[in-house]
Amino acid sequence: MLDNPEPDCWLHPDVEVRPSSIAGEGLFARAPIAAGMVVSRLGGHLVTWPVLKDLLDSAARQPDRPYIDTIAVTETLHLVLPPGRPNGKGNHSCEPNLWWVDAYILAARRDIKRGEELTNDYGTSTAGSDFRMPCRCRSALCRGVVTGGDWQLAELRRRYGMHWVPALLELISRHEPPCQTDHHR
Ligand SMILES: [Zn+2]
Repeated sequence: MLDNPEPDCWLHPDVEVRPSSIAGEGLFARAPIAAGMVVSRLGGHLVTWPVLKDLLDSAARQPDRPYIDTIAVTETLHLVLPPGRPNGKGNHSCEPNLWWVDAYILAARRDIKRGEELTNDYGTSTAGSDFRMPCRCRSALCRGVVTGGDWQLAELRRRYGMHWVPALLELISRHEPPCQTDHHR
């Protein structure tokens, strides 16, 4: 059963927005963050795909084209963040230091040093069949392109275990033959 999101987002006080070498602006740790620590909690409101599509279409028609920040939460529900929250500035990495621990929460996947950019793997929160993003994260595990079908990659399923948004955990459980209990990192 999915909890309702909080109305607004929350970001760990030791996180700041800075220009990023990955893309545009990113989130950075201004102090060490220990593995397991909650770093970002997304809030906003849940909408169905037809409602989200209307929002996106009407934003695209406005002269200033406001950016709608959204993630898939379940197969039918999307979370729309309040505008201008820094949480959405977290960049993608194919070897992220954050991962999903709940429908709305990103936590540190390992100990993070002061000054490190905070990243998550967009493949763990995107199921859109038309989503396709070239990646220049420069990690040794870089896939070169991130797509809405990355949840089908056995290597990623093994690496991330249960650390996907619920929409993708649903898909994975439905499309995976029961595998050995090898959910180690
Ligand atoms: Zn990459």
